[in-house]
Amino acid sequence: MSLFGGIEAGGTKFVCGVGTNRGDLIDKFRFETTTPTETVDKLIEYFEKQNKRGEMLAIGIGSFGPVDLKKGSPTYGYITSTPKIKWQNTNFYGKIKGAFDVPVGFDTDVNAAALGEQKWGAAQDISDFIYITIGTGIGGGGIINGEFLHGLVHPEMGHIFIPHDKKADPYEGICPFHKNCFEGLASGSAIKDRWGRPGEKLDKDHPAWDLEAKYISLAVINYICTLSPRKIILGGGVMKQKQLLPLIHKRVKFLVNNYIKVPEITNNIEEYMVLPKLGDNAGVLGAIALAEREYEKRK
Ligand code: ZN
Repeated sequence: MSLFGGIEAGGTKFVCGVGTNRGDLIDKFRFETTTPTETVDKLIEYFEKQNKRGEMLAIGIGSFGPVDLKKGSPTYGYITSTPKIKWQNTNFYGKIKGAFDVPVGFDTDVNAAALGEQKWGAAQDISDFIYITIGTGIGGGGIINGEFLHGLVHPEMGHIFIPHDKKADPYEGICPFHKNCFEGLASGSAIKDRWGRPGEKLDKDHPAWDLEAKYISLAVINYICTLSPRKIILGGGVMKQKQLLPLIHKRVKFLVNNYIKVPEITNNIEEYMVLPKLGDNAGVLGAIALAEREYEKRK
């Protein structure tokens, strides 16, 4: 059996798994993120074990960041200036590549998740779309003209600045770099800090959700206006609050205010802005998709 390995590397947890090229997850293993050495040792042990199931053709890494994605850069595949001190300047790609003699695909966690959704999920055959994850932090990635959007480094969609009405919401924001950027106001960490309880512990009709929908919609309209995506996928733990997406649909339509006149937004916004079809496996399946993509490129 031909297998592809995937690593969804998060600041608080790692999910690794193996699958084939059909989007099936044969095995999945989840563990807490500790030091780079300890974490990488666990990954190597896991994939060595999985290698006995069949032939591992490639491994994909969808990583938290910031990461260096510039091919040819001396720090390609490094996690660079992360607030997680122990992971700063970690040669993540190099450590995995050094342990297994197979092609290794490397990109941001959100770009990997986007690729998985394009291959097997909510964005099949769509060449221009974005994937936003709203969880402990906020990140966004995507595919534009069929290619990952990298540019100077890679998009940092969680750190855009959105209007903050301090009278309505005096909360100062939790981003260590910008305080009240989008992530600072609307991440799961901001919800917990603002209301003194995590989102899962707040009632469905708590004012937190209206405010949350407001901030997410403000960010989304900026992405619509700058990137013109054909679809927007909203994932992450916060989006598990079922009442949130309909509020966002309504508000984005209100903010667009018929300026962009397309049926996707005017008549069919429920299909335009969706949850990830791969659910909780979007990250790890995305990393597996990244592995397969790297394998095909090298063939
Ligand atoms: Zn920020």
